[in-house]
Amino acid sequence: MEQKKQKPTAENETLVVSRRIQRVSLHLSPVPRPLHEHDTQEQLGLFPCARSAKLEVETEKLSLYMRGKYREIQEKIYEYFHARPELQTPLEILKDEHRELCWRQMYGLIKEAGIRPLKYVVEDPGKYFAIVEAAGAVDISLGIKLGVQYSLWGGSVINLGTKKHKDKYFEGIDSLDYPGCFAMTELHHGSNVQGLQTVATFDPITDEFIINTPSDGAIKWWIGNAAVHGKFASVFAKLMLPAQDAKGVSDMGVHAFIVPLRDLKTHLELPGIEIHDCGHKVGLNGVDNGALRFTSVRIPRDNLLNRFGDVSRDGKYTSSLPTINKRFAATLGELVGGRVSLASSSTSILKVANAIAIRYSLLRQQFGPPNQPEVSILDYQSQQHKLMPMLASTYAFHFATSYLVEIYSQMKTTHAEQLVGDVHGLSAGLKAYVTSYTAKSLSVCREACGGHGYAAVNRFGILRNDHDIFQTFEGDNTVLLQQVAADLLKQYKQKFQGGTLAVTWNYLRESMNTYLSQPNPVTARWEGVEHLRDPKFQLDAFRYRTSRLLQSAAVRLRKHSKTLGGFGAWNRCLNHLLTLAESHIESVILAKFIETVEKCPDASTRAALKLVCDLYALNQIWNDIGTYRNVDYVAPNKAKAIHKQTDYLSFQVRNIAKELVDAFDLPDHVTRAPIAMQSEAYAQYTQFVGF
Ligand SMILES: Cc1cc2nc3c(=O)[nH]c(=O)nc-3n(C[C@H](O)[C@H](O)[C@H](O)COP(=O)(O)OP(=O)(O)OC[C@H]3O[C@@H](n4cnc5c(N)ncnc54)[C@H](O)[C@@H]3O)c2cc1C
Repeated sequence: MEQKKQKPTAENETLVVSRRIQRVSLHLSPVPRPLHEHDTQEQLGLFPCARSAKLEVETEKLSLYMRGKYREIQEKIYEYFHARPELQTPLEILKDEHRELCWRQMYGLIKEAGIRPLKYVVEDPGKYFAIVEAAGAVDISLGIKLGVQYSLWGGSVINLGTKKHKDKYFEGIDSLDYPGCFAMTELHHGSNVQGLQTVATFDPITDEFIINTPSDGAIKWWIGNAAVHGKFASVFAKLMLPAQDAKGVSDMGVHAFIVPLRDLKTHLELPGIEIHDCGHKVGLNGVDNGALRFTSVRIPRDNLLNRFGDVSRDGKYTSSLPTINKRFAATLGELVGGRVSLASSSTSILKVANAIAIRYSLLRQQFGPPNQPEVSILDYQSQQHKLMPMLASTYAFHFATSYLVEIYSQMKTTHAEQLVGDVHGLSAGLKAYVTSYTAKSLSVCREACGGHGYAAVNRFGILRNDHDIFQTFEGDNTVLLQQVAADLLKQYKQKFQGGTLAVTWNYLRESMNTYLSQPNPVTARWEGVEHLRDPKFQLDAFRYRTSRLLQSAAVRLRKHSKTLGGFGAWNRCLNHLLTLAESHIESVILAKFIETVEKCPDASTRAALKLVCDLYALNQIWNDIGTYRNVDYVAPNKAKAIHKQTDYLSFQVRNIAKELVDAFDLPDHVTRAPIAMQSEAYAQYTQFVGF
């Protein structure tokens, strides 16, 4: 029934306002005034029992456990920039100045600090990722510029080329004498790399390839390092060989070629090369992205990066891989290092944002019970709800990406087939999952710091703008998640054919059986804290969801394929498949987190990590409680208990939030924002604006 609306008068408006104020204050003070004047936490309706159980955490020990073996090189980078304030990126900087500064920062790291990233790309990839991560914490543009030079340009030469290429280019790339680009994307084709139009036609008379941009849509676009600094590019193009048929050429598929862009001495563009600037971007303006057009550019046959396919002097094509698709997969498979790097750099950016938002939230006070001091905004349940599960996810990502770095390094040395599959799937999935999460969280952190979060000095704006594109480059996240889903379906099929499963996928073997039997009606009702905080319950719940999604996706795909064909069926189930991929990645993240907690040798550090891990797990289950309820995996009373426990854990984590953030061990000049400082924050802030 519709209510009759009253005409507003000044009197009843005042009434409405005062009632609203009363409601708000009731919300802030839901329990009667405490006996002790300063007992503000009880006043706020927080968990009094939790306070007495506050964990003791030694930041130093926690930090040591998190650090891994690459802390030294990161400290070297932080110290280098600390000692060189003129190389730190100022808040207000024009695009062209930023590009030059970014070049000088990179040049300084290589020539002055003596860092040799390409050496580590080959010998110790973990160390290389740590370098990029630390550089990115200083200025994300610098991290990306390094990534373009060493992971993309250098990585393509090392991984797609052979000894002759390494001999000729390694030193020049590592020392920055040969700055270069990775020219894959075209104006009309980004994600669909197999659709590239640039051609490299072999000329048997001169023993050269001729590189051409056949149409405007084939102009190489967004190419990092191209607009200003690059002297070379690894150009991805269709390899064309002369043929005796009506077409006159045969297309051997996409290959990579080293193409000189500018003269080594004069830096002028070489004949047939046309370069334009992609202009001012939403972020990452320290990186000079450009567009390239090739008109009959001749390069020696030797410039074909020929690890997976070669052309002989007489124009014959040879490859150890039988089909274009296999060669293409092998070529792209060698480039996953960029994704590993983005996943770990994104985690590092999330740490910086966490540190700023949480330190500020501990310091900032707003409102309080009547006649009592104002309380820290982190004491509000809503603020805890925004920031504590995020802090838990940051820890979860830290351990998951560290694991990814570890297996990537192993894969590079052993080339074990099972690891290749694992790294491929996990790098795609973690890159997509972590970068999407960080992108959203950066906005949450800004908002959590109120108006001061909007001051450029506090970094959220630049972090958000610079990081945003992490979701798109090195593989668009939606496209990457589909690769994960496709892998899972492949593994699912193999499982029923009795084949071996990749390590990360192994859990499917057991949990599928659990799925195929109905959820247990007894455990669905268990709501005790011990049960909810049991890693077995948590992991089973995650894996159950993944198995269920996988099973139902397979059934749906089979059904729709009959009428829509493979492509149409995939598209009909696309959102389902994306949820499946995310669910699998979450299962892997939780499994790694649990494993890391269990392995921790120090009891108090282990207890703190267990708390954070429980929050991560239960918050994720709560976020998807509808799914669990729908199939009665969780009964209503248990759902309620999970929610309550999540709030309780958020509060507990809030109590050790300072130590958890300090353990990230970020140098002050990285979280240099005044609001990020624990002490004298406002004094620094007012000084900053000129008081
Ligand atoms: C700052 C910056 C730096 C870059 N640096 C380089 C570089 O150095 N070298 C280089 O080669 N490239 C570079 N790129 C290009 C980058 O790799 C591509 O932008 C990226 O691969 C995505 O391609 P696209 O832009 O064509 O997007 P598209 O592929 O057109 O995607 C657009 C949208 O369509 C959706 N979509 C596409 N295909 C599917 C599908 N199958 N299913 C569902 N949804 C789909 C995507 O999710 C996305 O939302 C850079 C880009 C930027 C912005």
